[in-house]
Amino acid sequence: MTHQNDIGIRAVPTIQQSGEINDLLLTMRALQSVFWTGRSTRSVESGGTISHNDIVEAERRFERFAPLLQQLFPVLAESNGKMESNLVHLPRMQQQLGMQSSSGALFLKADHALPIAGSIKARGGFHEVLDYVESCAMQFGLMPNGDYTALATPASREALSKHELVVGSTGNLGLAIGLMGAKLGLRVVVHMSADAKAWKKNKLRENGVCVIEHEGDYGAAVAAGRRESMQKPFSHFVDDEKSSSLFVGYAAAARHLSEQLTDAGRVVDKNNPLFVYIPCGVGGAPGGIATGLHHIYGEHVHCFFAEPIQSPCFLLQMLFESGEFTGYGSNPSVYDLGLNNLTQADGLAVPRASLLAAREVRHFIGGVYTVPDGELFRLLYELFVSEGIRIEPSAAAGLAGPGQLLNSAAGQRYLQRHDLAHLVHQSTHIAWSTGGLHVPDLDYSEFLSQGEAMTRKIE
Ligand SMILES: *Cc1c(COP(=O)(O)O)cnc(C)c1O
Repeated sequence: MTHQNDIGIRAVPTIQQSGEINDLLLTMRALQSVFWTGRSTRSVESGGTISHNDIVEAERRFERFAPLLQQLFPVLAESNGKMESNLVHLPRMQQQLGMQSSSGALFLKADHALPIAGSIKARGGFHEVLDYVESCAMQFGLMPNGDYTALATPASREALSKHELVVGSTGNLGLAIGLMGAKLGLRVVVHMSADAKAWKKNKLRENGVCVIEHEGDYGAAVAAGRRESMQKPFSHFVDDEKSSSLFVGYAAAARHLSEQLTDAGRVVDKNNPLFVYIPCGVGGAPGGIATGLHHIYGEHVHCFFAEPIQSPCFLLQMLFESGEFTGYGSNPSVYDLGLNNLTQADGLAVPRASLLAAREVRHFIGGVYTVPDGELFRLLYELFVSEGIRIEPSAAAGLAGPGQLLNSAAGQRYLQRHDLAHLVHQSTHIAWSTGGLHVPDLDYSEFLSQGEAMTRKIE
């Protein structure tokens, strides 16, 4: 690939870093997958500003809204308004991945099946909508006697329709904010980046959401949304790069997961480590979940973030935070490295990390690895063939985690450094599947055939 300034293409920067990091950056630039494990002290105390209380508040907010959501969404009737996903044991996929039972047990946290949004954004995105609606309702006295179901009445919807939510998105966040916001009666404007899938835009428009399409990337869509919202009263901008409300919505996943692990007979303690692999865009979803899990399990949980090889923004941010990637400002982008941010994993196609997420997790995150798109399709295909589970490409990134940790040199070094190698046989591995429920059949069969082609390439 040639890069020339004079025709408007970014020049490939020269990298001047120390030996080991230089090799890592060169490997990233050569579009090979990498696994970085950092040198974190793995202490949640030295982390950021999100407290245990903030997370408990988010859990309670979901509970307060459950009776209303049960009324508004028929799919939530059976769960009494609770929006949660299953923890699924994956014995056949484990075998398919060539992962021995002596390496622990593999599970899937099935957020691809979260109701309504069909992705992990049902956690953060829904939380922020509910948070905002709650504050409007309090301010305007819409819930006499604290009855949240009063928000389903025409009078309340009329009052809420004066309020607007604005968000920039590659697809799934817009879908979550749009579907929940519109259902509660708010006006919602979603600024979509070029990589957003057509069916996501259509679904929003069918639900009365205003979708504005942008030629540019995710960062550009967010900037446009922020600008528009700032100029209006009664307009709330959902800021994926800075929002602590989104963050604690994700973090609230941890409590329920810990109950599911107990129910499944999985112990997490000093002798039984938990490894969690979470697909990462700006870092809010994996950052929130990692923070929630660390509040519960401390150093016994090891969270790894997964990014596409063209969009390793969180990895770059972690390198910056540890003083190892300098010269591109305090919030480097994947373009700075000469990458193009083009990936079929639309949920992860993000050029710059969230600073909020980065600062919260930098002291305890286990590491970050990158995955080529072809590998995402192969994993998506193998999950379907072995377990009959349908996910979208972004969601497959977590499934590459066990192989990275158990089979790579960097993974082996991590296990040794933290004295885990002799405990792996009694460990639990969770791949977080972050989206897929609403993918149309036609799109999904296209994903499957790409994945199948990848398996033939390998053999
Ligand atoms: C948004 C998203 C992620 C990552 O969340 P971030 O908060 O952007 O890090 C992962 N997978 C899917 C399918 C998503 O939609």
